[in-house]
Amino acid sequence: MNSTIKKDSPILQVIDLKQYFPLKKESFLQPKQVVKAVDNISFELFAGETLSIVGESGCGKSTTGRSILRLDEPTSGDILFKGISLPSLKKKDLRDVRGDIQVIFQDPYASLNPRRTIRQMLDEAMDIQRVLPKNKREERMLELMSYVGLRPEYLERYPHEFSGGQRQRLGIARALAVNPEIIICDEAVSALDVSIQAQILNLLKKLQRDFHLTFLFISHDLSVVRHISDRVMVMYLGKIVEIADKKKLFESPMHPYTKALLSAIPVTDKKKKNERIILKGDVPSPISPPSGCRFHTRCPFATVKCKEVEPLLRNLGPNHFVACHFAEELMQ
Ligand code: SF4
Repeated sequence: MNSTIKKDSPILQVIDLKQYFPLKKESFLQPKQVVKAVDNISFELFAGETLSIVGESGCGKSTTGRSILRLDEPTSGDILFKGISLPSLKKKDLRDVRGDIQVIFQDPYASLNPRRTIRQMLDEAMDIQRVLPKNKREERMLELMSYVGLRPEYLERYPHEFSGGQRQRLGIARALAVNPEIIICDEAVSALDVSIQAQILNLLKKLQRDFHLTFLFISHDLSVVRHISDRVMVMYLGKIVEIADKKKLFESPMHPYTKALLSAIPVTDKKKKNERIILKGDVPSPISPPSGCRFHTRCPFATVKCKEVEPLLRNLGPNHFVACHFAEELMQ
């Protein structure tokens, strides 16, 4: 982590965020149903750090990112960016904040207009955020191409003329074009080959150091998360189950779900044995999540209390928060 990070001054605060999606009724007799994609979560993001969100598909990690960006309007709760409430912002004020919080998606091609050259794409991004007068942009575009390791003449090319890794570099250039403070990387390297993944991750780290960027890194890939994160937040069925510094989380996980996730990482050191914890059953439906601890239907340590009482996220060590009634006992 960058040594200038001030742990006491979050750049972004997510407070009691709920993101529910109502389902369409098949008939008027059917009761109203909602998907509880994110259900009352709170966390902080500190300037200059990389906080990763991990969990199985459907745990709410991407929905959390979309809520912060207001691509989905939060059902309730608050999101403060430098103290400004994002859900309360009117559309015209939201546009300014969108420059401060950018996103890189898994499939950069889907978010690049195939009919526009890279020059036009960067120019448009700067137009929307009113970054630099037109006559000052040439130099900036050349800088951006250099930052992401692409040749200046590529500015005249169209997206289909680039490889997957190059397109992701273009996605990063477009995000950087508007001078963001936070970049949300939503499965940003998941579609790339392992060697290209490593190049893009190293590029992101370099850019973070050079421009003091803050990353919210959403991924299902724990090897990638281990490489890039300062802190890691684990989600299960719309809830946060554990947040800790990366080293702590990977070396001493406390929540049974985190332990199961980590046990699935292949071990390269032959002397070390990694006992795989196989979870029973499937992830329950977010329409009617289990009572008490949402993980109790799959947890090997579940008790009656777990079925009845929801565990709160408790501080069990420096920067280590866990939502399990028996986390301390299970560590012994
Ligand atoms: Fe398992 Fe109970 Fe802990 Fe939930 S609270 S993780 S069910 S032991």
